[in-house]
Amino acid sequence: MEGTKKVAVIGAGTSGLMAIKNLKEENFEPVCFEKTSRVGGLWHYHEDDIDGIPSCMWCTSLNNSKELGAISDFPPKSDYPNYMRHFKVLEMFMDYAKTFDLLHHIRYNKEVIHIMKTQDYNEIGEWKVVVKDNITGHHSEDVYSGVLVCTGHLSIPNVPHFPGMKSFKRKIIHSHSIKKFLEFNDKTVCVIGTGSSALDSAVEISHVAKQVYMSVRTPTWIMTRHGPYGYPLDWSILKWSFAILQNYFPRSICNKVIQEVFIDPRFSHDLYNILPKHGPLDRDFALSDALPSRLMSGAILLKKAINYFTEDGIVFCEEGNTVTSVDIVVLATGYLWEFPFLDSEDLIIQDKIVHLYKCVYPPHLKHPTLGIIGFIVPMGPGFPCVEMQCRWFAHVMSGKSKLPSQKEMLNDIYRQIQG
Ligand SMILES: Cc1cc2nc3c(=O)[nH]c(=O)nc-3n(C[C@H](O)[C@H](O)[C@H](O)COP(=O)(O)OP(=O)(O)OC[C@H]3O[C@@H](n4cnc5c(N)ncnc54)[C@H](O)[C@@H]3O)c2cc1C
Repeated sequence: MEGTKKVAVIGAGTSGLMAIKNLKEENFEPVCFEKTSRVGGLWHYHEDDIDGIPSCMWCTSLNNSKELGAISDFPPKSDYPNYMRHFKVLEMFMDYAKTFDLLHHIRYNKEVIHIMKTQDYNEIGEWKVVVKDNITGHHSEDVYSGVLVCTGHLSIPNVPHFPGMKSFKRKIIHSHSIKKFLEFNDKTVCVIGTGSSALDSAVEISHVAKQVYMSVRTPTWIMTRHGPYGYPLDWSILKWSFAILQNYFPRSICNKVIQEVFIDPRFSHDLYNILPKHGPLDRDFALSDALPSRLMSGAILLKKAINYFTEDGIVFCEEGNTVTSVDIVVLATGYLWEFPFLDSEDLIIQDKIVHLYKCVYPPHLKHPTLGIIGFIVPMGPGFPCVEMQCRWFAHVMSGKSKLPSQKEMLNDIYRQIQG
């Protein structure tokens, strides 16, 4: 391996594994640092509840079908279900890691705490990476030709503040902390949020709780995993015909088509007073197969936005200002992201938007040797996008591809931001 360039990969989740594989294919030597003792990131179910460590619930399954979410050269097994549970996703990525001999590149319990330019960065684009051993506390550092940041962006709970929340004497948790559902037995629970995690939480909790309320501030389009004729919804929508529709017709018409053809007519948003003002393509929609029936049985009751908390309940923005008594509040209110190991000059962040060319490259850096992977929320499956990002980075590092000029990259970023 003498003369082989070393590239640091930060994080051994699914993105980190795809990074290692694609770097190897371009004859780099990947060195992957993982701060936990596990591979697979979010898809490796565990019982720890630590902010900053990705986590899923026991009931979590993919929101994308295996048909659309497949990696290009490692298709999911034919006997895998369309929408895999978390342990199947992990199983698939462990097979991937073993097939392409990726695991021995991973250094476990190693947390990257600082990435900085070396003194001769201007000439050769190298980075110094400082790593903390999470078992011994020992710090070490080394120099790498490139760095791929694969640290995920769904592990630091976003905890919003509501009036009176501090005086609430019962329990408040974030959906990040939910693992199994025993603690909700016979309780009255309020889930705040309308994303897929909120819907998953509300549905699962409603099987054991006395009553679940769901507080809806901004209504979301709710879709099901099964589309027309029982085929996976994403497989039914995301086809070439849809690309043509989007390219040649105004957004309003595309929205209408999605609404008419793909929103399950057996669930009326209107009837529950949660008809979104925006079209299905204008914002993220949420997936839940069971919510409609849980609403019909009254196991889940919809409430408006939160007005304020009392000591033992919540007053919603509804007529009468009555207090709804609640034992446990679940904040399904999303995540915050950060890159604490990067110097602020190496990443431009304005108005909470990270400036990255095609969601990967900080455009102002002199060399294309730092990439951020998986920092995207695509309309559709994430795995193939991440695979392409990793392959692109490896090709650029090896000289097979070139980035456009800094000006072009900046213009592209501004175009994206302006929408
Ligand atoms: C409930 C839920 C459902 C989802 N469903 C889908 C879906 O259906 N389809 C889809 O494509 N995506 C889905 N996602 C998005 C999900 O984030 C991605 O699928 C994928 O897990 C992201 O992988 P990752 O490797 O980028 O990040 P993660 O899985 O978060 O892994 C990051 C890894 O980096 C490590 N790490 C972090 N910081 C450091 C550091 N400083 N030093 C060393 N190691 C570090 C972490 O320990 C972790 O192992 C879902 C997310 C959630 C929360």
